[in-house]
Amino acid sequence: MDATQATRAVVEEMATVMEENRRRLTKLDSEIGDGDHGNNMNRGFQAALERLDTADPSTPADVLKAVSMALISKVGGAAGPLYGTAFLRASTALGDREDISAADAAEALEAALGGIKQRGKAEVGDKTIVDALQPAVEAAKEAAGEGSVAGVFRAAATAAEEGAESTVSMRARRGRASYLGARAEGHQDPGATSTYLLLDAAARALEGAS
Ligand code: ADP
Ligand code: MG
Repeated sequence: MDATQATRAVVEEMATVMEENRRRLTKLDSEIGDGDHGNNMNRGFQAALERLDTADPSTPADVLKAVSMALISKVGGAAGPLYGTAFLRASTALGDREDISAADAAEALEAALGGIKQRGKAEVGDKTIVDALQPAVEAAKEAAGEGSVAGVFRAAATAAEEGAESTVSMRARRGRASYLGARAEGHQDPGATSTYLLLDAAARALEGAS
């Protein structure tokens, strides 16, 4: 399997996982938001699959760009443009590379985080996607020296899971949940949770591809 096919396999696994977790993410968002996160993410990744079929991308960056366009155009709410920006920045970071190294993968994840932070202005501790993605990027960079692209995503996913769990005790300072004050405490952030699920899907797809 070449890197373009592997990237497609990652997106397909992400779409499957968003479909399987639609209710779980929507339930989390109904506790501290407006109850649409699962539907938003599922709709966005189904649109990404359709776009991949018609665009038939020829590099890993083109695959990520197609996903970005689908998320930006099909997903309303905060998460669509944020994740759309993340995929676009990751795509730009990969450029026209046809092979992806572990270091390239970590760099793409770092670029994705940079896009989300620039657009959403959130920092660690604000109870958002950043609480999962920033520790994931740190773990990815550490893992990049030693191993495979799959290893980078596995390290990222493990750190993201912990990061998502860390949001339970937080109050939100960004997004809808920030209006709830102390009432947001005791609930895991939906966006941090979807970030963990997406990274775990990527790791599993790549572990299967190697
Ligand atoms: P909306 O809040 O517009 O209904 P979603 O429900 O799809 O959009 O997404 C909510 C998630 O978006 C939150 O759980 C949070 O993780 C994430 N989010 C919201 N605002 C920001 C932000 N400024 N930066 C990073 N993530 C954010
Ligand atoms: Mg919502």
